[in-house]
Amino acid sequence: MTDYLFAPAGVFAIPVRGEAAAYPVRRIFCVGRNYAAHAAEMGGEVDREAPWYFTKSVVHAVASGAELPYPAGTDNYHHEMELAFAIGAPVFRADDKAAAAAIFAYGCALDMTRRDRQQDGKDKRRPWDLGKDVEGSAVFAPMTRVADFGAVGGQRIHLEVDGETRQDATLHELVWSCVEVVAHLSRYYHLGPGDVVMTGTPAGVGPVLPGQVVTGGIDGLDPIELRIGAAE
Ligand code: MN
Repeated sequence: MTDYLFAPAGVFAIPVRGEAAAYPVRRIFCVGRNYAAHAAEMGGEVDREAPWYFTKSVVHAVASGAELPYPAGTDNYHHEMELAFAIGAPVFRADDKAAAAAIFAYGCALDMTRRDRQQDGKDKRRPWDLGKDVEGSAVFAPMTRVADFGAVGGQRIHLEVDGETRQDATLHELVWSCVEVVAHLSRYYHLGPGDVVMTGTPAGVGPVLPGQVVTGGIDGLDPIELRIGAAE
C-alpha cells in the first residue's frame, strides 16, 4: 500500500440508464466547431479537412443538477449544449466499423466556456485552457446505451436559459459524425473505456448570469441542468 501525501482525486462517473454500475471517466475530449452555423457565429468556418480537439480535465466534470458559482476570471461565461458519447472498448487506428462498435453510450453535456478568455487565446495564439478547462465546466447528464438510443440523426438538440430557448438544432447538423470522430481521434490516442467525447455545439451560444438556470435536452436522452450560483 502506497501512502499518499494527500487524498488522491476521486473518480467521476456518469450514470447509465438501466445500468446498476456507472461509467468512470478518465479523459474528456471536445470537438471544436462541428456545426457550421456555430462556426459562423464564432467568426470562422468548419475545417473540412479534419476535426480538431481540445480537452478538459476530469476533475472539472460535474453531474447534471449541480449548482456552481459563476466562475472567477470571466465577464462572459457561455453555455454550449452538446451531444457527448462514451467509448466502451479499446480502439486505436480504427476504421469506421471498429469506431462505430466502440461507441458505448450517448448523453447530454454542457461545455461551459469563459468566452472572453477563449478569445484572448485566439487573439494571442495561445492555448484555450483558461477559456475551456474551467473548474466545473464539463457537465454530464446520465447516459443512454447506444442500443437504447438508436442512430444519431434527426434528434432535436436544444438549450434554454431560465426557460427561454437559446440553442435549437438537430443532430443532422453535426459536420463530423461520432464515428468519424472516433476514427480520426484514434489515430492519435489509444482510446478505450473511460474516454468521453463532447461533439461540439450548435449555434446560439451565449452568456449566462449568476442565478440563472441552464437546461438542455436531446430527443431520447436524459435532460441536463446546471444552476449558476453567485459570482466568486
Ligand atoms: Mn464546445
